[in-house]
Amino acid sequence: MPVDNDPIDGDPSVHHRIPARFESFDDRFTTVSGDPYLVRLFTGARWAEGPVYFPASRALMFSDVPNDRVLRYDEITQTTSVFLRPAGYHNGHTVDRHGRLLSCEHGPRRVTRTEHDGSVTVIADSYQGKRLNSPNDIVEHSDGSIWFTDPAYGIDTDYEGFAAEPEQDGCYVFRVVPGEQPTVVADDFDRPNGLAFSLDQSQLYVCDSALGHLRVFDVTGDTLTGGAVIASCTAGVFDGFRLDATGRIWASSAEGVHVLDPDGTLLGKLHVPEKVANLTFGGPRRNDLYITGTTSLYTIRLRVTGAPFPH
Ligand code: MG
Repeated sequence: MPVDNDPIDGDPSVHHRIPARFESFDDRFTTVSGDPYLVRLFTGARWAEGPVYFPASRALMFSDVPNDRVLRYDEITQTTSVFLRPAGYHNGHTVDRHGRLLSCEHGPRRVTRTEHDGSVTVIADSYQGKRLNSPNDIVEHSDGSIWFTDPAYGIDTDYEGFAAEPEQDGCYVFRVVPGEQPTVVADDFDRPNGLAFSLDQSQLYVCDSALGHLRVFDVTGDTLTGGAVIASCTAGVFDGFRLDATGRIWASSAEGVHVLDPDGTLLGKLHVPEKVANLTFGGPRRNDLYITGTTSLYTIRLRVTGAPFPH
């Protein structure tokens, strides 16, 4: 199994199968399982993050943040190739309701949208005239607003961006309507990171990767209220997460994926050989879970489906 920094194009022999181990703590998790193995689709990243699935092209894009590249896994050819390098140290991604890529970029410290013609539109790069820290993860609301987190990981050191003094007074959660200025929707995080709306969008889950916990807010228009801590990660910290079609939260952790009830109860785990940063559901039926785990991209077909696209 080669481990290097180059893409492994067209070599299905690297699709290594690893026994999958589900661990259940709750009766509600007993129906949740899937293939008895994980498939390692790609290895050779330094820190894989930001998986986003494009149903129309059956492709998955993900970031290799310290290597400053975006990779693209093609479900049809089962190959991974470099989509963008240099990439501006992309981190989190999502796909909007029009099928466009939304990106968090540590390098230029901005949120962008890649248009259908390939041009890049800057959605946000400052707040009150000061540069953002380093946008980390991103979701879109059905009203067209874009919500993202802005911790300082990309400016702490040169490892995954460019070291710099922060210009913002803190690490905030922002909401931005494209074409307008961003507003702060939560200002009491240490390091806000992954975020996702509940299925009916009445709530927003946001994790704090410094404190290792997950919070839930009530969403009313363009504001958040509440913010109770509903879970603390029991293995490392939560980073990125997504919801399945029943509203369960599939969250990254140091030992793999933790599956939480919407109330935060830990229902079960899917163990992964590497520390997991993020995940997303994909495949034609949304029942393929794609997992970015440090050096590698993994997948497993589940007996549950992800929340409808885009989410
Ligand atoms: Mg993140």
